Amino acid sequence: MNAACHHEDGAHHGLHGQALRLALTAAETRCAASQERLTLPRRRVLELLLEAHGPLKAYDLIAAFGSGGEPAKPPTVYRALDFLERQGFAHRIESLNAYVPCRLDGRGHSAAFLICDCCGAAEEFEPDLGAGIAAAAARGYAVSAVTLEARGLCPVCQVG
Ligand SMILES: [Zn+2]
Ligand SMILES: [Zn+2]
Ligand SMILES: [Zn+2]
Repeated sequence: MNAACHHEDGAHHGLHGQALRLALTAAETRCAASQERLTLPRRRVLELLLEAHGPLKAYDLIAAFGSGGEPAKPPTVYRALDFLERQGFAHRIESLNAYVPCRLDGRGHSAAFLICDCCGAAEEFEPDLGAGIAAAAARGYAVSAVTLEARGLCPVCQVG
């Protein structure tokens, strides 16, 4: 996130308290339904992503992992991120090399983000990619994933 942003008014915030607990319980339920386990490291990394005000880099997660302030072993965090991405709980924003929790509760959907260059917020939205995928199909491509990252200023940062 950009330390020079003076627009923060709490518009971008993560989950806390009850909302955070509900999101983690929902993730556990979803894992159980697909015979997967939300192990402690996976759960902790998801919790950190859900709590965050914006995208987190892997080293942010490694540093914040221990509730007592002790860092995680990097492979622990990378493996957890890998799982969360595969299961559709988190996305990697390629242009930032950072991670966000999935806000659309959709496994295997195309991830699209609006990224604020000022405050660093990243909002997920459901892209309408029909025309692009049809164009790819017309050229004989079988598209398996599309990443869309639109950059600019969020509504909060456009105001003075
Ligand atoms: Zn700003
Ligand atoms: Zn998503
Ligand atoms: Zn902003």
